[in-house]
Amino acid sequence: MSTLTLNKIAKSYPNGFKAIHELNLDISDGEMVVLVGPSGCGKSTLLRMIAGLEEISSGDLSIDTTRVNDLEPGERDIAMVFQNYALYPHMTVFNNMAYGLRNRKTPKQEIERLVNEAATMLELDHLLDRKPNQLSGGQRQRVAMGRAIVRHPKVFLFDEPLSNLDAKLRVQMRLEIKKLQRRLGTTSVYVTHDQVEAMTLADKLVVLNKGNVEQVGTPIEIYDNPASLFVATFIGSPSMNILDAYMTSQGIELNGSVKSLSANSLEQKKVKLGLRPEHLQIDNEQPWFNVEVEFIEALGADLLLYCQTQEAQSQQLVLRVEGHSPIEMGDTLGVNIKPENIHLFDCDTSKRIP
Ligand code: ATP
Repeated sequence: MSTLTLNKIAKSYPNGFKAIHELNLDISDGEMVVLVGPSGCGKSTLLRMIAGLEEISSGDLSIDTTRVNDLEPGERDIAMVFQNYALYPHMTVFNNMAYGLRNRKTPKQEIERLVNEAATMLELDHLLDRKPNQLSGGQRQRVAMGRAIVRHPKVFLFDEPLSNLDAKLRVQMRLEIKKLQRRLGTTSVYVTHDQVEAMTLADKLVVLNKGNVEQVGTPIEIYDNPASLFVATFIGSPSMNILDAYMTSQGIELNGSVKSLSANSLEQKKVKLGLRPEHLQIDNEQPWFNVEVEFIEALGADLLLYCQTQEAQSQQLVLRVEGHSPIEMGDTLGVNIKPENIHLFDCDTSKRIP
């Protein structure tokens, strides 16, 4: 069992900047938690505090039932995979992977066994004699992973490990990391600013904004019920469309026409209306509102339609439709959406209206 508990963890840098505000998080045994958020939100700071590379200003960090705030990085039984792989250039792949074990005075035969086991798992067997500069980016990434797994640590930490790889390799390695983590069942914390990576890897997603947790949940819970405008627009690609609308006792009014919702009594006020591009449907028979297509991006399987609502103060929105739809720039389309796919947010607080 390896659980990780963050209890009111905070970080102030010496210049007084508060990078992490009192943050609580429970990570279960074997769980993969992904910390996601825009640049500067505090992801790396938090990961480095868990690793012991950054001092914790206040709060308690525990692995299982032991408080580890004051333990050195090497004493925490944590292995970290860095963005730049941090391999030793003069050492072979074998020695890079064996390095941590040798430092711990692991017997030679045991080192051989552990490195070979990890190399097989990562398909590095034939590369053990090479130096890092004789490897591709993806292979280097695997060596960095290998160095972490040979130690069988209690916790893996990943700091944007795929960001130096090209798009195709990222997708491939993402899948490999997920499979490996499942197979080993090691409790993991993974940092990324890429929301697709976050969605696909996470058992539990933690969305950070300015050093605070905006929302914690499974990727699907967060996609289906974003708690704030920030989360709504950060998770999902392309981003959720946010439009100015009115909530009335009859339903939601956009562009002069009202869509009734199942909620009984709706307070009368201005709201932010959230509509995901993939949930909008072209419906010329019974549209909720009309749009004009301004620009089309063909992605193959899908088309992205960049549109404007037809009203005095027109608003921009994107629709994602099936790739072979016969639509052209300048077309006027009727648009509708299922009531359950409508998201509403408070204009003042930016929080979700239930
Ligand atoms: P990125 O995705 O760009 O790496 P991040 O979410 O990992 O961003 P952090 O590196 O954790 O962000 O930084 C969080 C905040 O703390 C940022 O505003 C950053 O400028 C600030 N910060 C980081 N290190 C220091 C430091 N040594 N002194 C003062 N402020 C710092």
